[in-house]
This record gives sequence, structure tokens and C-alpha cells, in this order.
Amino acid sequence: MSTEPDTHQPPVAPPAHGGPTLAQERRLVTEIPGPRSRELFARKRAAVPQGIGTTLPVFVTHAGGGVLVDADGNSLIDFGSGIAVTTVGNAAPRVVERVRKQVADFTHTCFMVTPYESYVRVCERLNELTPGDHEKRSFLLNSGAEAVENAVKVARHATGRQAVVVFDHGYHGRTLLTMTLTAKNMPYKHRFGPYAPEVYRMPMAYPFRWPTGPENCAAEAAAQAIDAIDKQIGAGNVAAIVVEPIQGEGGFIEPARGFLPAMAEYARANGIVFVADEVQTGFARTGHLFACEDEGVVPDVICTAKGIAGGLPLAAVTGRAELLDAVHVSGLGGTYGGNPLACEAALAVLDTIEADGLVERARRIGEITLPRLRALAGRFPIVGDVRGRGAMTAIELVAPGTTDPDAAVTGEIARRCHAEGLVVLTAGTYGNVLRFLPPLSIPDHLLEEGLSILEKAIASV
Ligand SMILES: *Cc1c(COP(=O)(O)O)cnc(C)c1O
Repeated sequence: MSTEPDTHQPPVAPPAHGGPTLAQERRLVTEIPGPRSRELFARKRAAVPQGIGTTLPVFVTHAGGGVLVDADGNSLIDFGSGIAVTTVGNAAPRVVERVRKQVADFTHTCFMVTPYESYVRVCERLNELTPGDHEKRSFLLNSGAEAVENAVKVARHATGRQAVVVFDHGYHGRTLLTMTLTAKNMPYKHRFGPYAPEVYRMPMAYPFRWPTGPENCAAEAAAQAIDAIDKQIGAGNVAAIVVEPIQGEGGFIEPARGFLPAMAEYARANGIVFVADEVQTGFARTGHLFACEDEGVVPDVICTAKGIAGGLPLAAVTGRAELLDAVHVSGLGGTYGGNPLACEAALAVLDTIEADGLVERARRIGEITLPRLRALAGRFPIVGDVRGRGAMTAIELVAPGTTDPDAAVTGEIARRCHAEGLVVLTAGTYGNVLRFLPPLSIPDHLLEEGLSILEKAIASV
């Protein structure tokens, strides 16, 4: 008899399939990780390089609503959404239905060889839904990094300039160019150099850590960034300013209000392409369809991925028609970009956001989450800052009474949450941020239960 674990059949209460039919409950039937997950993890270690890390070594067999079910039959509360991807929920019904039909019709032609309608429809909808009523174009790719790379290609081509401006704490991906655009050395850049040329990093308006206090942060950070661009690069040499409207991996840093509009205005006045990297913030996550709407910022180019297609790999670059049309015929593309399964999934995601009122749902999740996080900050002095919007919120952990980051306590709180069956992720330049990204399909009772687990974990350290 084979002793190899059957990852497709959880031993306890096997659900027929994922999606909303899964019992919406936290249920721990073994320790976390359980014996089957531990066996699978041993196989992973033998077959996959350690460079591919693991946040929580439970092997998932089913997921939907607000839970992940593992190979031992445990049901965990999901505050990660696979890093802000399954915003509409895992195996969301409309996604499943459209992808099922498409996979039986055709799986690939390459849009650049013989096109199909769903790709065009996704682009039409992105052109309608992204901020600004100017004429737009979109094209599709496979990953967030590819979207950011292509935004830079377009900006360089359209402006005839080379320099790219990015910010402290920024994260834009793991390819050569996007790793260069990314701020943090460990784990993203260490010994992977040399990096791409013509990338310049400016200060970010990080209110919690601004030396002269949060009130002065936006104006001073913008003035410093603009002065440094003028002095060190020359505005006329800058192709693009690339910024996340809320920084993701860098620690859910909301730029102080006024900073993004100031940088967008500077870009406009100097013929610089203002690129919003909405890969993590996009598609209802923050209580807007796109986070830059919060301050009425209209980017020239917007990069999207993660939440766009319910877990299927898809990314997009959307921007001013005159910029995107500047590139010569066949200067853009890729074999798989805008794969028909992913396009069908994206159309289902956009329908679901509209039909289920998910922008409002994200706001409601913020209204439930933020007061509870603020109460934690009131009770526990290690919670130095609470921030975020909608279903993208975080706490920053520090030595009490200071802003000194405490990555060790952050990791310990995360481990205790994991052991109790709550999937939480860490983030931050200093590794001292716990971030919360529940799927918008999570029921309120699981959201509240997850926050209670977090509270106990903080109280216990
Ligand atoms: C995740 C992320 C990326 C990279 O996306 P991949 O799909 O992992 O390549 C780029 N920018 C931001 C803001 C992200 O959060």
C-alpha cells in the first residue's frame, strides 16, 4: 500500500470542491502543520530550492470564502488571499464557471498570432474603469513584474528619456529591472547584481517615520524628492516616476496625504510619465476600485495584476493612448500574455466586483478591522502604528515608546497566529509589519474571529 499522502482528499469532512460550498469555519483537527503537510514539506525541501520560501507550511487542498483547507483536514482563516490575489475569493463561482467553459473551448492561440475577443473585452473594461476619462489603451501580460517592466519600456519609448524614479520602501517585482526598482536588499536583491542602470530612489512620505513628524511629511518629502530629481538627474532626463499608491511589501505605507498629488503634478509639469503600480492595491482591495482614486490622482499609466483574475496569472498595463500607441508594431507582447483562461477569469472578477458590491464590502471590512487594530494599539505599546484602507490594513510593531522596529516579536506573533489557524503575512523594510489582506468573500464572523486570534497572540508575547 502506498504511504504517499493523497493531497486531494482531506481525511475530515471532504468537501466536493472549493469555493463557497466550503464550511465557513476555523477547524483544527491536528497541530499546524499536521502530519500530511509535514510529509509534503519534506518532499518540497528535497525537490524545490530553499530560495522559494514558505510562510506557513500547510499544503492546501481546497479554498473558498474566507478559509483554506489543508491536507490534514484543518480549516484555516485566510488573512492573506495568496498575497492580495483572491480578492473575489478562491474558486469564486463566476470565475470557475467562465474558466471551465473556456478550457473546453480553447486554451491558447497566442493573442499576437490569432486574437480572441475576451482579451479585447478585458482591455475595454480596464480602459473604462481605471481613473481618468482620457482615451486609453491596455495590453496584457502574466505577472506584476512584467507589467511594471512594460510600463517602463513604454515610458522610455514615448519620452525618449531613460531615467526611472522610484521610492524608499518600494516593491515592484523580482526580474532584473523590477528588482532594481525594489528598495529592499534582503531577500530581494542580495547578490543578484549588477542591477539595471538609470534607476534613482527618492524619499517616501512615510508618516510614522518622518523625522519632523507626520504633519510635515507630505510637503517635505515631495520637496526633497523634487529637489533631488532636479539636482541629481534633471527632470528632462526622467522617463517615469513609478510609485505604489499604498506600498505593499514595504509595509503597507500610505504616503502622507498630498505627496502623491504633488509628485503627479511635478510629473505632468515636466513631461514625465506618472506610473501607478496598483499591482497590490488594485481591484476593490482598498475600498476603491484603484487606490489612487482616494486622492483623485490620475496616473498616465497604471499597472495591475494580483487581484485582477481571481488567481489566474494575468497582468495589465493601461495608459494614455498616445503613450501606449507610441511603441512600434510588435514592440510589446509575450507568448502567454492575456491567456484566454486568465481573460475569462478577469471578466468574471470584474462582474463579481460589480454584482456583489465588493468595493463597499472592502470598505466595510476596513470599518470592522481598523477600530479593532486601533484598540490593540491602545492596549499594547508594541503596536506602534495602525494603517491601511479597506481590506488592506496593517500594524507596525516596535519597542514600546519608540519607533525602533521589532521584527522578532512580529515573527513570533505571526507564528502564534499560524498555530491557531490564522494565515497572516508579515511585510516591511524592517520586517516588523503584520499585514491583513482577507478575501472580500470572508464572512464577518471569520474576520472577527481572526482579529480575536491576533489579539490573543499579541497579548501572549
Ligand atoms: C507583487 C507586486 C509586484 C510583482 O508582481 P508579480 O506578479 O509577483 O511579478 C509588483 N508590484 C507590486 C506593488 C506588488 O505588490
